[in-house]
Amino acid sequence: MKKLFVLILVVFLIVGTLVVTKISFKKNTLLEQTEENNFDLNEITIFGTHLNMSGCLNLELTDTLSLVLKNNDEEINIDSTFNNKDGQTCFNLSNKNNGGIFLEELKNGDYMLLVKQTIKNNDKETYKYYSIKNNTDYKNLEYYTITRNNKNNKININSNVDKKTNKNYIEFKINESKLPNDVYDITIDAGHGGYDPGSNYVLDGTTYYESNITLKIALLLKDRLEDMGLKVKMTRETDINVDPYGDMGRAVIPNEVNSKYSLSIHLNSDYGTMNYGGVEVYVPNNIDYDFAKTLVNNIGEVVGYSRKSTDRIDNGIYFTYFSKRDIEDSKNDMIDEGNKPYDIKEGAPYMYMIREVGGVNTYAYIDGRNEDYGLNKYYNSIQTAEPYLLELGYINYKSDLLKFVNNPEKFADAIANSINEYLHIS
Ligand SMILES: [Zn+2]
Repeated sequence: MKKLFVLILVVFLIVGTLVVTKISFKKNTLLEQTEENNFDLNEITIFGTHLNMSGCLNLELTDTLSLVLKNNDEEINIDSTFNNKDGQTCFNLSNKNNGGIFLEELKNGDYMLLVKQTIKNNDKETYKYYSIKNNTDYKNLEYYTITRNNKNNKININSNVDKKTNKNYIEFKINESKLPNDVYDITIDAGHGGYDPGSNYVLDGTTYYESNITLKIALLLKDRLEDMGLKVKMTRETDINVDPYGDMGRAVIPNEVNSKYSLSIHLNSDYGTMNYGGVEVYVPNNIDYDFAKTLVNNIGEVVGYSRKSTDRIDNGIYFTYFSKRDIEDSKNDMIDEGNKPYDIKEGAPYMYMIREVGGVNTYAYIDGRNEDYGLNKYYNSIQTAEPYLLELGYINYKSDLLKFVNNPEKFADAIANSINEYLHIS
């Protein structure tokens, strides 16, 4: 029995040594093929399901340049733009905050991120590779893909120096892995609650409150998404007030649980009675609108598009932001209240459930300097959920209100179907 145990141990050690040798051997052969100069990574963000980055090399390279994820067996081309000027060659994945590498689509395996130079000589093509040194503060990033068929991948992006070649590198390790208990796919935020009922409207003697309707639809949506296999975090599940910030603040939860998207559910209202209703989807700054359009199309089928033209980007898609004047006003208010003014960037989204959830991508600013407001501990995070705020329709437009009251499941279905269409869950 003891002999068998020793034998098993020896076999384990030999196999283990071989595996370790093979991996480090692979890394070395890749790095040995790279040039002496390396690119410097200067920026990296993960916004929702997309990784964006940019970097430069202190040399003007000609020929065809591309960014690749490479191992000994394959090479995956990454959409990127290269520019050279003033003695530098720089790359950039996307000018949109939610652009770049779609992390959900990467295949399992270990890859090194390299810049590839394709040199054409007559009819012959030769290649040079450059490794990349991570100059940002974020040397190790971790990302869990959205649950599909009960499965998730874990992506580790690690930056290091190889001891043998003394070269800097960035590697992507992608393995199947269960979601940890504290990681969720998506956050659903039912607007208002508790002592804050939001807007209200009286119809045939009954008062309808926004906070009750948003909760009802949010809970139906949670069921729909869980039926699709998604892990859903709610900011509230009962009629309670949720603070915006602090450890379990409404704007903090989406990032606290590493969710990829945050959807806030609201109902619109204006003074008096509206003569139109319809959906308004509020979006972060500087994004591709594919997901927003999917949401608007599906919810629009239930209530139509809002006719409101202020802040409209496209049919049903809206963006409200701080102008220079707004920043000045806010600053003066802060000073009048005896507070230290926040560092508000021009163009920052006005709605806190968009601005604060998006971290650096959306110019979040609740950094704790004013105790009255609390702290969004992810205000300067480079990895955050991608937030949307859905004004599903108008509570003070009778036709919309009757749909909220009589057919709340239609709204839950429209949102759940949008998520399925955009992210291909099932
Ligand atoms: Zn609201």
